[in-house]
Amino acid sequence: MTNFLENISLAAHNTFGMKVVARYFARFKSLEDLSSSLDNELSKHQPLLILGGGSNILFTKDFDGLILKNELSGREVLREDNDHVWIRGGAGENWHEFVQWAIAMGFAGIENLSLIPGSLGASPMQNIGAYGVELCDHFDSLEAYHIQDREVHTFKKEDCNFGYRESVFKRKYRNQYVITSVVLKLSKKADFRTSYGAIQQELEKMNVSEPSIRAVSDAVMSIRRSKLPDPAKIGNAGSFFKNPVIELSHYNKLKIDFPDIISYPSGEAMFKVPAGWLIEKAGWKGRNLGNYGVHNMQALVLVNYGGATGAQIYNLSQDIIDDIQNKFGIILEREVNIY
Ligand code: FAD
Ligand code: NAP
Repeated sequence: MTNFLENISLAAHNTFGMKVVARYFARFKSLEDLSSSLDNELSKHQPLLILGGGSNILFTKDFDGLILKNELSGREVLREDNDHVWIRGGAGENWHEFVQWAIAMGFAGIENLSLIPGSLGASPMQNIGAYGVELCDHFDSLEAYHIQDREVHTFKKEDCNFGYRESVFKRKYRNQYVITSVVLKLSKKADFRTSYGAIQQELEKMNVSEPSIRAVSDAVMSIRRSKLPDPAKIGNAGSFFKNPVIELSHYNKLKIDFPDIISYPSGEAMFKVPAGWLIEKAGWKGRNLGNYGVHNMQALVLVNYGGATGAQIYNLSQDIIDDIQNKFGIILEREVNIY
């Protein structure tokens, strides 16, 4: 029988550390748990939120609905051939621990995605990515439970419409499915991506001349620890905004006013401009507004130093969006899910 808790603090369930309260809260460790929770009268009390690690969420107020916390566990090697291995994990598995498990077995592909917080089940939601690798590069399929139909559906890669921090679950099927397990296809022979960011320099610092899966993961972890605030110490949800992609004509105009603008080609005649660069250039990096602000090492990360409200963080994000639009004519899009 599902144990429904009432008026539960969510402070420990979101990495921003927002001290909001959920009207109802229950955990599910199996499909049967999930199904019986959804059968319960309380699940009619909307809204309904499926929660993983709470690392991509900003609560701006108390949650007057039901939160179902995903604790589906389990890891297994499904099959393998000469070059590849297919591994499956329960959606409630911790992403980073899942990556480390794969690395320990010598399976390559997701080492650049080390130390991303959250659950395996949330990873397809925004097609998590870092250091030139995205989940979709190594994704095989997932199973998801349809909340209305009460059926498990299988989604292959082509069904997920993966894009830059995007998937069908974030848009078309938002709030319709609970992702219950994920299958990744990893490689037995590594094809390292070390040219992105500071990985190569970090490997050199570590005196690694021949990269290994373990060494690349260690390098990524070391860079991340040096730049990103640890949510256990300073509340945050990683990058608050997506990197905008602008047209060549817009980019050429900006280049005149800002000759030092950073950009990366992104499709035909399109350029990705790091949102962190725009925010820093506009003078927001390190801005301290008392108990919240913009991180001093990475301008893309908004932080709660303790005691800030979600509304304050949200308003700060709006001020940044307005300022970037005024200064650069670019409208930033929030990456973090707002509740
Ligand atoms: P949650 O925050 O719990 O949920 C996010 C959304 O997904 C919610 O809408 C929720 O309802 C939905 N959801 C969660 N699980 C399920 C499920 N099983 N079925 C259906 N819906 C579900 N992201 C990156 O892409 N790259 C990074 O490098 C990165 N670095 C980060 C660094 C830090 C310090 C932090 C705090 C965050 C970072 N993130 C990064 C963002 C975040 O870690 C990822 O988006 C992660 O996948 C979120 O997982 P979660 O379990 O915490 O999701
Ligand atoms: P960084 O290395 O300082 O680079 C700044 C931005 O430039 C990144 O956002 C990245 O875009 C882009 N970039 C850098 N090198 C690139 C290349 N060779 N080709 C194309 N784009 C390039 O970034 P960082 O803040 O330290 O983060 C490192 C990685 O971790 C990035 O991939 C970032 O996305 C990821 N990360 C994500 C989150 C999150 O919450 N989503 C939080 C922390 C870190 P991309 O973001 O498109 O890669």
